[in-house]
Amino acid sequence: MVRDGVATTVAATTLVPGDILVVSEGQKISADARIIAGEVEVSLSTLTGESAPTTRSGEAVAASVPPLEAADLLFSGTVCLAGTCRAVVVATGDHTELGRIAALSQVTVPTKSPLEQQVTRIARLIAVVAVAAGLAFLPLGLLAGLSFTSAFLFAIGLLVANVPEGLLPTITLALAVGVRRLAARGAIVKRLSAVQTLGSTTVICTDKTGTLTWNRMSAVAIGVAGRQLDVSPDLPPDPDVDALATALVSCAITTGTGVATSSVDPTEQALWEAAHTLVRDGAERSVSRRLHVYPFHSEARMSSTVDDTAHGVTLNVKGAPEAVLARSVCLLDRGTERALEPAQRSAVEEQVSHLAARGLRVLAVARRSLPDRTWPKTREQAEHDLCLLGLVALLDPPRPEVREAVRICHEAGLRVIVITGDNPETAREIAREVGIGDAGVRTVTGAQVDNLSDAALTVLLQPGQEVICSRSSPEDKIRIAAALQAHDEVVAMTGDGVNDAPALRRADIGVAMGRSGTDVAREAATVVLTDDNFSTIVVAIEEGRRIFDNVRKFIVYIFAHAVPEVVPFLVFALSGGRIPLPLTVLQILAIDLGTETLPALALAREPAEPGIMAEPPRARHGRLVTGQMLLRAWALLGVTSAALTMAAYFFTLQRGGWYVGAPTGPGTPLHQTYLEATTASFAAIVACQVGTALASRTERVSLLRIGPFSNRLLLGGIAFELVFSAALIYVPVLNELLRTAPLPAATLLFIAPFPVVVWGVDELYRAVRRRSVARVADPGPVPTAAREA
Ligand code: ADP
Ligand code: MG
Repeated sequence: MVRDGVATTVAATTLVPGDILVVSEGQKISADARIIAGEVEVSLSTLTGESAPTTRSGEAVAASVPPLEAADLLFSGTVCLAGTCRAVVVATGDHTELGRIAALSQVTVPTKSPLEQQVTRIARLIAVVAVAAGLAFLPLGLLAGLSFTSAFLFAIGLLVANVPEGLLPTITLALAVGVRRLAARGAIVKRLSAVQTLGSTTVICTDKTGTLTWNRMSAVAIGVAGRQLDVSPDLPPDPDVDALATALVSCAITTGTGVATSSVDPTEQALWEAAHTLVRDGAERSVSRRLHVYPFHSEARMSSTVDDTAHGVTLNVKGAPEAVLARSVCLLDRGTERALEPAQRSAVEEQVSHLAARGLRVLAVARRSLPDRTWPKTREQAEHDLCLLGLVALLDPPRPEVREAVRICHEAGLRVIVITGDNPETAREIAREVGIGDAGVRTVTGAQVDNLSDAALTVLLQPGQEVICSRSSPEDKIRIAAALQAHDEVVAMTGDGVNDAPALRRADIGVAMGRSGTDVAREAATVVLTDDNFSTIVVAIEEGRRIFDNVRKFIVYIFAHAVPEVVPFLVFALSGGRIPLPLTVLQILAIDLGTETLPALALAREPAEPGIMAEPPRARHGRLVTGQMLLRAWALLGVTSAALTMAAYFFTLQRGGWYVGAPTGPGTPLHQTYLEATTASFAAIVACQVGTALASRTERVSLLRIGPFSNRLLLGGIAFELVFSAALIYVPVLNELLRTAPLPAATLLFIAPFPVVVWGVDELYRAVRRRSVARVADPGPVPTAAREA
């Protein structure tokens, strides 16, 4: 926008009436404004529900019509589909048309994502199990001879022990931290839960321009009537080059109405620079006046301007060679216009493919003289009977880091499909340079895709097949996404234009460009890349996998404690109270809400496990919690911890002279021993938690491989856990509160090795699992270490 004559970019909320908006294609308009120069096509669908675009320009001023129909007004919340203009702000905020409508209907419907649904389901399941267990064991306790109070206490204990109080907040925190990290690495994720989908992506459908390449173009070669020349300021005098340069200077969208947009299309920019390199001092710099613009449309693949020049009114056209060639009837050859015979046509086509095979983006330039200063209403009426002036080849090199990102994709079982509006040969060459399709690739054009049946499209997109779709339309993107999704692929789709919005919504993960994209695409997308870079998509997928893995890690960790917390109550109940209750409800809460939480949070920050991108993607409907995880948490870690906990309890009781059935209530000689013993149970569970935390750090590989000290936060969390427990055990006031007693050195010594035992058992389990997985995956004589490397 322009304020006080200075062009700046400001936050939409700080706009005031009188500011001048500079609007260009794909932008969302942020205030009501009156056009003063230029012409745009806008979609008023947010206001009127009418999806057909309407044209608004500064020239038409109708007197008394309702504001929505005024031909020179733009409205906040609507979208510019094509063209550029300047408009002066007349109303902002609540005073806009949109503001009035919004005030009438302010409703938002929150929807639950798959992850939230899964978490809610787990939470509900746990609650049901806990309550059911509590209720079911109540009569059992009574049967075993407990008093009603004891049985009730026992049921409550079971309930509390079963419910993982810290789970939900930890999951939310883990996702929030993950989203922040993603943002720091260049990917802004709009929904917390999209992180999970991101991690299970199987196919990336990407643009070429700007994502695989720099989107920084420069003209390197031109072609005129059978000659190919380098772009340089000291070419020998040549009437054809002069004509090409003159046309390029006049039709540069950057000049014209004097509308300088904040984000100039790099193609336009490169053409404009080429024009100024090629225009020779001697040659007249035709000072032309822009009369009209037919803006660039990705379907038409060309743009035209009507300019008033020294030679009369001229239509200047530039665009994809086949589009321009199809509308050309003659060719400028050494200053004279000659009819375009089939032979010359194929010569031009050959020149195009020659340039495109070098990975260059080729545009054709043409012109037509118009009889007077009026111009045809539609571009169809304008863009015909053209005279071809020549070709311009733009170099847009691939980004260097993309090659490595593509390699990682292939290793991680991800396919890359290129969907571009550019020429097939250009696309294939750029794809080859970054390694897409190394293991086989199919090249199709958008027109071919349109003619394919759904079945044939499925064959084209079958697993393992990388595809380059060139000269494609936004509809092709939607069809390709739908066809992939029908076969359970999780599709990430990039897009930047207004027309890409439906495809971005359709894909599982819509990826928009933060720098070059349009507001419309950014709004439709789930992820916005701040650097527009393909490799950031791959980084984000890795982050997604890591975060999801980590959520599962702390689920294993948190679930593992249910067993050592439940078993003491069972022992108490099944012995009919002859064995005193080994753990109090308050102590369970101290564990679930106190000692356990920080290490769980630290597990959420665990770095990615080695080989995380060497695994195939997770199944689309993959469960957050699998049977195998429960088995590991409950049967392995849980049962081990429970056994150790009971051992610590009986060890302490025995040392104090306890025998089965001996009274331990307040006032009895064994009461102090009993308090010490329950405290020993508590301390034992904490010690086992330390072991579990270390064990849950990895799902597959050995802890030694990632380094036992590589997660500093976890070490901090464990230190806190130990200090906190020590306080509960040794501070007298807390002793009173939790009914704990200071532990003697012998008990501490007994408990000290527990972390190592729990961790060691799990380490063995993982070693066995790795060996069996390696055997299933690869029966050959490949040593496990080599596979992991
Ligand atoms: P992509 O961004 O995937 O390369 P686009 O849809 O932007 O594809 O462009 C498709 C084709 O349209 C380009 O190959 C080029 O020939 C032509 N084109 C692109 N930008 C312009 C423009 N500003 N004016 C005229 N033609 C253009
Ligand atoms: Mg483009």
